Amino acid sequence: DRALLWLRRDLRSHDHAAWALAQARARHVWVAFVLDSDILDALPRQDRRVEFILQALGQIHTDLAAVGSGLVVLHGRAAQQIPRLAQALGAQAVFASHDDDPHALARDAQVAQTLTGQGCAWHSVKDHVIFERREVLTGAGQPYGVYTPYWRNWSQRLSAADVRDHAVDLARPGGHPPWPDAVIQAAAQGQITVPAQAPGVPTLAQTGFEPTNLNQLGLTGDRAGVRRWLDDFRPRLAAYGRQRDQPALKGPSYLGVHLRFGTLSVRELIRLALDELGCSPGELGRHSARTPASSAAPERPGALVWIQELVWRDFYHQILANFPHVAQGAFRRADDALVWEEGAVADRHFAAWCAGRTGYPLVDAAQRQLLQTGYMHNRLRMVSASFLIKDLGIGWQRGEAFFAQHLLDFDLASNNGGWQWAASTGCDAQPWFRIFNPWTQSRTFDAEGRFIRRYLPELARVPAADLHEAKTLARHRTGLDYPLPLVDHAQARVATLARYEAVRGKA
Ligand code: FAD
Repeated sequence: DRALLWLRRDLRSHDHAAWALAQARARHVWVAFVLDSDILDALPRQDRRVEFILQALGQIHTDLAAVGSGLVVLHGRAAQQIPRLAQALGAQAVFASHDDDPHALARDAQVAQTLTGQGCAWHSVKDHVIFERREVLTGAGQPYGVYTPYWRNWSQRLSAADVRDHAVDLARPGGHPPWPDAVIQAAAQGQITVPAQAPGVPTLAQTGFEPTNLNQLGLTGDRAGVRRWLDDFRPRLAAYGRQRDQPALKGPSYLGVHLRFGTLSVRELIRLALDELGCSPGELGRHSARTPASSAAPERPGALVWIQELVWRDFYHQILANFPHVAQGAFRRADDALVWEEGAVADRHFAAWCAGRTGYPLVDAAQRQLLQTGYMHNRLRMVSASFLIKDLGIGWQRGEAFFAQHLLDFDLASNNGGWQWAASTGCDAQPWFRIFNPWTQSRTFDAEGRFIRRYLPELARVPAADLHEAKTLARHRTGLDYPLPLVDHAQARVATLARYEAVRGKA
């Protein structure tokens, strides 16, 4: 009747499948998180995500402290710390949520094996997505590689059970007891590493990290912060379909970070969107079939378009789970033969792209948004990724790694899916011969240059009409601290077509 709940990317104390299951199976549940040295040691000392995680953990600790327990935060290798903690607690079972990142799967397999060896059970359950792994399959029993039929099947099979609230009963008498002395002793004897007093959440400094601008961005991982962002989005949901593609507008939800770390449950977001649509889970398939098919159609309700975006997230998660080779290379394996630019010029171009100094204002504004805020608008992720790959000829994996380092909502499945889409190497990807023209994208999606000027103050005085073409931009060069375009788009396009033709043959 003693269980340990190990939190990872599910940092909340409500609507939580693993937590609810642990409560259903065991009388006493203790909760822990591991600051995993395998992950943290590789990060720069300033990382907004570490700060965010500590805030989310602080909230969970407060929730548990209110019922006389508390969160234990450990530091070290999870594969060692969790089994040792389970032993000190005398737990009969450890509960966790699925994480299909290949590294996480390997880690969990190791933990499960050690636990089994010490007579403790391991249970992990779906929590991060609505449908996972092999739950939504084609008629032939295969995982989907194309989104639209996946979405159709997903929407038709959704039922109330899939989005139900996995309620956590924090106040259940004796449900969350104080941490036993054995845990404090295990820490004192060095069996487990506890950076703050146990229970309790370490400060940023105790974790070995430095403060970032996270709080200036108005982003916090505590409950009030999470609710504030959700409440801010709710009234904008109806307009989502119309506004989500204009980076200067507050169109998207900005909730990606909360989905990434599980400070919100994806089930509650789907429930919210269904509410807005006035549609029950079981009706979604029919409801969707009655509205125009394309998510770009203006009549399509914002809440429906938004659900479809959340389903892209499920889609890419099942791609990673069923085709784990994508973490290493192209979904279409033959595309690993693509030859990218390398050497000093490519390195200089890559550095300019990273810093937002390519001479293409929309790309540069996008990169600066990422550096300053840890966020980049979806349209711009597509534009910027396409520019790196198809204008600079640089391998998508370099861009993927850069985004992974900087995005607050970085998620291996979605990031890899997005990059392989842009590189045309993925499932359901952009056709390789269709190449975004960064100038046209700029004119179409930021015609007035409002987004560009927000992040490139050096272009404040350039008239909007002149921002979207190399020639007109060049008229304002004198006295401007802004680089010339690194490459000519028309020439780059020709080189890119040749690069792909070498592997794919003529279009
Ligand atoms: P909203 O527009 O409000 O969408 C709501 C949620 O739906 C998002 O938070 C996200 O969870 C999901 N979603 C929306 N679009 C997509 C999509 N195309 N693929 C998968 N999920 C989606 N998303 C990530 O969560 N993490 C990443 O690391 C990531 N990297 C990307 C890299 C590239 C090159 C591209 C093109 C896209 C990437 N995306 C990634 C997808 C998408 O850009 C972000 O999810 C979205 O911009 C997050 O902002 P938001 O929360 O305001 O989104």
